[in-house]
Amino acid sequence: MKQNLQLKKIKDEVMACQKCPLYKTRNLPVIGQGDHEANVMFIGEAPGANEDRTGFPFCGRAGEILNRLLVSTNLKREDIYITNILKCRPPANRNPEKKEIEAYSPYLKKQIELIQPKLICTLGNFAATFIFEQYGLSEKIQGIGKIHGLLYKTNELSILPLYHPAVATYNANMFETLIEDFKKIKLNEIKKI
Ligand code: URA
Repeated sequence: MKQNLQLKKIKDEVMACQKCPLYKTRNLPVIGQGDHEANVMFIGEAPGANEDRTGFPFCGRAGEILNRLLVSTNLKREDIYITNILKCRPPANRNPEKKEIEAYSPYLKKQIELIQPKLICTLGNFAATFIFEQYGLSEKIQGIGKIHGLLYKTNELSILPLYHPAVATYNANMFETLIEDFKKIKLNEIKKI
């Protein structure tokens, strides 16, 4: 399939990417994982230590929480596509810097263009801000505490900003909020969009 080849090309480009210094400190880049024709795409922030070691997104503690949330909505990990804004781990899991987001954004934009999801679920503030800017929703950008669980429709797709699953590792009550917000991923509606 043409898409597979083009997504593989992105992987090769990220492997060789030296547009920002993160390539010097990372172990493996994390490109993305899942169905290349997924209707639902999840976008997180950046690889953490486990992801950096394995090359797969959300395979550590935040990934375990994400898996439980997916089960609660009847979504299978193999039916969705999961990626991050940054493809390489920032040292000590610090926040992404603006110039790093700029360096990696062409890869993420190309992934979205190739996969053509009907729904993008953003995980955390950085992913929500990035995706809102891409789809002309800059004036709607607010802290994730204000916009989580609200569905935004554009001409091309819908966007559902969600808290980053890692919040439930610091605050167990947030798991319930995440469960409620994940209920907004209505599979029947996504098929109709
Ligand atoms: N946090 C993220 O934002 N992405 C991952 O892949 C893992 C943890």
